[in-house]
Order: sequence, then C-alpha cells, then structure tokens
Amino acid sequence: MLDIVIIGGGVVGCAIARTLSKYDVDIALVEREKDVSLGASKANSGIVHGGYAGKYGTQKGKFCIRGNAMYPQLEKELNFGFNPIGGVMLAFEPEDFEVIEKQIENGKKVGQNDMVRMSRDAMLTMLPHVNPAILGGVYIPSIGIASPYELTIALAENAMANGVAFHLGQTVTGLKRNEVGGFDVMTDHGMLQTKVVINAAGRYSGQIAAMVDDEIMIKPRKGQYILLGKDQAHLASKVIFQTPGPKGKGILVTPTVRGNLMIGPDAEDLMQDVNTDTTVENLTAIVEKARQSVPAFDLRRSLTTFSGVRAIAADGDFIVERSACEGVYHAAGIDSPGFTSSPAIAAYMAELLLEDGIIQREKEAWSPERRGIVIPKASDFKGDLESDDPEKHIICRCERVTEAEIVDAMSRGILLDSTDAIKRRTRAGMGNCQGQFCGSRVKALMAETLGVDPEQISRRTETAPPPQRVDIQTIRKMK
Ligand SMILES: Cc1cc2nc3c(=O)[nH]c(=O)nc-3n(C[C@H](O)[C@H](O)[C@H](O)COP(=O)(O)OP(=O)(O)OC[C@H]3O[C@@H](n4cnc5c(N)ncnc54)[C@H](O)[C@@H]3O)c2cc1C
Repeated sequence: MLDIVIIGGGVVGCAIARTLSKYDVDIALVEREKDVSLGASKANSGIVHGGYAGKYGTQKGKFCIRGNAMYPQLEKELNFGFNPIGGVMLAFEPEDFEVIEKQIENGKKVGQNDMVRMSRDAMLTMLPHVNPAILGGVYIPSIGIASPYELTIALAENAMANGVAFHLGQTVTGLKRNEVGGFDVMTDHGMLQTKVVINAAGRYSGQIAAMVDDEIMIKPRKGQYILLGKDQAHLASKVIFQTPGPKGKGILVTPTVRGNLMIGPDAEDLMQDVNTDTTVENLTAIVEKARQSVPAFDLRRSLTTFSGVRAIAADGDFIVERSACEGVYHAAGIDSPGFTSSPAIAAYMAELLLEDGIIQREKEAWSPERRGIVIPKASDFKGDLESDDPEKHIICRCERVTEAEIVDAMSRGILLDSTDAIKRRTRAGMGNCQGQFCGSRVKALMAETLGVDPEQISRRTETAPPPQRVDIQTIRKMK
C-alpha cells in the first residue's frame, strides 16, 4: 500500500511530489499523458507574478506572494531558468491609476512593498519601446519570468530522483474506499492502493472530486498567444502589463526566459468545446491590444501561436484543502497565478499532511538539486553540424542545441519518444525554422539512443489530435 497518490503531473502535482519526497513516505504520481506538463502548465505566460496579483484574504493572496519569494532558491536548486527581470503596469487613462492604486493597496496587504509609482517619462526611460501615449504606471521589481514546462520537468525529475514513482500515460478512472481504510485508485492500466489521494488534476479536478462524492465546479477559460523571434525581445526588457480587468491580468508583452518576445493571452470562457486551437479573430484582437503597450513589434518575425486553458473554480479562488472525504486532499481550480503559487501550494499541502500525521519524518538523504538540461552557450560557441564530439555536435541550428543536451534529456527517467518532448527540454525545434531543419535530425538521434526505428518517434507527445492553429503566414501578414 502506498502512502500517497498524487493525481496530475502539472506544475502543481509535480511541486507537491517534489516537496513530499523529502518525507519518509511512499508516493506515486499518476498522469494521463506520457509526459508531465501537458495541461495548463505547458501553455501559459510563465510570469512569476508579484504577490499583489493574489487578492488579500484569499488562497491566491496567500500563495502568490509566498510562491514568488520561493523562486530564487528553487532556481538555485533546480536550474530550470528563472529571471527576476521585474514588470510594469501601464496607465493609459486616468481611471487606470485607480486600478493601479488598488493593486498597490492589495500588494501592501499581502506583504508586498516594492511597487514603485512611475511617471510617464521615467517609464519611457526604463522601457523606451513602450507607447509614448501612456500616462505613467507602476514598476514591480519582484516579478520574474520562467518557463513553465521547464520548471515542471525539473520538479518531476527531482521528485523522481528522490523516490517518487511516476505512472505516466495512465488515466485515473475511479476512486474507491477499500477495506483497509485507504483507497483503490483505478486507472486504465490497473489499480494502485494508497492511504491518501491528492487531487491535482487541473481542469479535470472536478471529475476526480466527484469520484469521492465531493463537488468542485471548474470553468475552463482559454488564452491565446503569439510567440515572436529573439530579435524582437529588445522591445520589452520587462514584463509589460496593462491594468487588469474582471477576467484577468489583460494582454501582456513580455520577453520569455529563453529570449523570445511573447504577446497574449486573452480570456475566453469556453462552454462545451474545450480546445487549444488558435483563431485569427482572437489573435487579431490580441495584436491590437498588445500594440497599445508596445507598438513596434514586427509580426513578420512571428514563430508560432498557441493557447492554454485555465481551470477556474466557481468562486475564482484556489481550492487547496482537505476534501469532505477523509484521506483526500484537493489542489484544484489553480488558475493564474498558479504557476507562481505552485511551490507555496506544495509547501502548504505538506503542512496539512504534517498536521494530519500523514507525513512525519524527513528522509535522511534528500537532495534538492537537479542539473539543468539547457546549457547556455558562450557567444563564440559555434559548434559543428558534423562533429564527433557530442558537446560540440549541433543538432538544432537555430537554438544551438547539441547532441549531448538531447541525450542528457533522454536519460532523466521519463521515456521520451516524441520530438516535442525533446523540444520542451532542450529547445531543439523552437527557433526560427520551427524544427524544419532539425526535426529529422532529432528523430534520428532519438531513435539511435532508444535503439528503435525513427518511424517510432512521433512529433507530438499527446495522443489526442493536434489543435488547429492559425497558419503562421497569416499572422506574419497581419498589421
Ligand atoms: C493562458 C494562461 C496563462 C497563465 N499565465 C500564468 C502566469 O503567467 N503565471 C502564473 O502564475 N500562472 C499562470 N497561469 C496559470 C497556470 O498555468 C496554472 O495555474 C497551472 O499551470 C496549473 O497547474 P496544474 O498542475 O494545477 O494543472 P495542469 O497543468 O493542467 O495539470 C493537471 C494534470 O492532471 C492531469 N490529469 C487530469 N485528469 C487526470 C486523470 N483522470 N488521471 C491522470 N491525470 C489526470 C492532466 O493531464 C494534467 O497534466 C496561466 C494559465 C493559462 C491557461
């Protein structure tokens, strides 16, 4: 019998797995996809929000500020790529200052005291590419950027190294209390027995709750993005927000932690057809809004579009609590700022389990450390497309990804058999050519490493059909 089964391998489930791996308990994580981070944790803005972004008195308010403060240490331990570049919120209308004042007030209440009001001129000096029509704004130094999937992968790898068993490609189909007072966790691959279940199933956490007659209502809210090339990133050296509205934080313009420029997301409530397609209509509106903040980005440098789906709870707050069904714990309804909050949610989950006596003793040997996969290259690193030295042998030209990095990514405990899984770990295929040059090279190297036929390496990790994305040429022709 296991002590704990965590359902869901997003950033929340993996953060919980890693935190609980410090304790002397047997833990398994069950994830329906063949890899971690394929839900909301794959496709979001990757902003490590300031504490002000969670309303005082709510769980968001409690976890966002605590999570934000944990990132520098997490980065030291896990090497996933985090950059505390700071962010701003711009005011275009006098009313925007009222919203900004509310944010500052909320920040103070949750314990964030670093928000600096800025005049128009000071803002334009700091961010010369921002629209000169602004009236001013606020600067928040504690905002950072990180790659959401790289963090999730790092958390999973570290949890695994500390003894958590990952059951990937297995869907939980039922939960039943068993005769010994624990739970039978039914999956499409068999059954696990456990004393405790943690529901971190993201958009599906309502379905998991229903398996133990608990009720959680989740509303899906989609957000779309355009990712642009690295030659556009100079336009925003900080995360640039507009003032938030009732549905969220608004359209942002931000550099990504690996040096691209990104614009988005919008906020569209989905009723029935929950998908991650992108649409010309939504992206056109996003471009228009983003140009209000930073007018000069060049859409001819667009690389791709994508979208993610937020899991919003009925009252809009996170649900991190004991279920009415004893032995079940929820980390559900974790929409934004859930990426920021994930390490704090995990720490709180550990506090709940300590109080309940589920975890007690820390392990003597627990290592918080995990080596990074992406190796930052010196500016004079040229590499060689034909080199025999894996550390110099370039597989992906645009992102200068070497054979050594790809083979390293494949040696970390999760079976990788799709080029997208390599892309998320090494960036091979994320550059200007979007894998057109390196796709077959990555495939061949993966096949050789696994000792299989290249045909057995797929592009996508997910088994579901790919989303319909707007053709990038259409975006490149937009104004
Ligand atoms: C557009 C957008 C922008 C965002 N921007 C930010 C941001 O900038 N900063 C920030 O802090 N937050 C942001 N967020 C929020 C953040 O992405 C989420 O809070 C976070 O990713 C939630 O993680 P999760 O682990 O709860 O969910 P998920 O990542 O969705 O993980 C849940 C996992 O459970 C698995 N699962 C579901 N059902 C089952 C089952 N029956 N059996 C097994 N496995 C199952 C799924 O496959 C999935 O992998 C944004 C979200 C979106 C969508």
